[in-house]
Amino acid sequence: MFLKGKTALVTGSTSGIGLAYAKALAAEGANVLINGFGDAAAIEQERQGLEATSGGKAVYSAADMSKPDEIVAMVEDCAKTLGGVDILINNAGIQHVAPIEEFPVEKWDAIIAINLSSAFHTIRAALPGMKAKKWGRIINTASAHSLTASPFKSAYVTAKHGLAGLTKTVALEAATFGVTANCISPGYVWTPLVEKQIPDTMKARNMTREQVMNDVLLAGQPTKQFVTSEQVASLAIYLCTDGAAQITGANLSIDGGWTAA
Ligand code: NAD
Repeated sequence: MFLKGKTALVTGSTSGIGLAYAKALAAEGANVLINGFGDAAAIEQERQGLEATSGGKAVYSAADMSKPDEIVAMVEDCAKTLGGVDILINNAGIQHVAPIEEFPVEKWDAIIAINLSSAFHTIRAALPGMKAKKWGRIINTASAHSLTASPFKSAYVTAKHGLAGLTKTVALEAATFGVTANCISPGYVWTPLVEKQIPDTMKARNMTREQVMNDVLLAGQPTKQFVTSEQVASLAIYLCTDGAAQITGANLSIDGGWTAA
């Protein structure tokens, strides 16, 4: 439990990879602020489970990551309720798959806001507290799509490439303050986000569900296996250790070899 006494804020943590981060952080004793949408009773059950695991506190924020004011209020509440934000994981994300000529403008705006700008707002609000404590970890869930592109995902690929640039800049600005900033870039992880894009991809590419799974999703992943949320979370835990103190500004792939190909 090497994170006892530390507080982690994880955006988009009511589901998928974010929830796995929250569970792994709680297992190391951290207080956790979880965030995201979903069924209130299910979220409350997860929150209680996190407290039982960590022996510390877990709180939930319903802040919408497309709304800067709500983001800042969430970071301030976390500092007030849990004593600061020592570990910030920007993870909230959405996807939309369509050819660029047909890409809905409001989907573009939402993806840029949630997948990219929200990280600017959380970092802007949380970094002063980390600098003052001379310790902090900023982890941004990017994607293999921060390093390479796929057709029909213009907004997502743009946001993730932007997130990688933001991470490098923050790493340089925070370098002498004991604060590291890194991206974790998963390949395909089996989560609700991936499952939801199957119907759109079927339509965009005129394929069956099975063809999308094998010929699109796992086509570029040489191991032919999905990454698990737990594997992604274990990399984040490693980044919180003292052994990772000199890893900063990195974009760490966990993609079954996708971006090596
Ligand atoms: P998911 O859909 O399971 O979880 C997304 C989370 O974000 C949920 O908790 C959801 O409530 C929250 N969220 C969505 N919109 C929000 C908003 N406006 N405000 C607050 N919270 C919001 O997805 P996931 O697959 O676990 O994805 C998590 C992150 O990992 C995303 O940034 C995604 O781009 C990235 N990623 C996923 C994969 C993958 O294959 N699943 C691969 C690479 C990167």
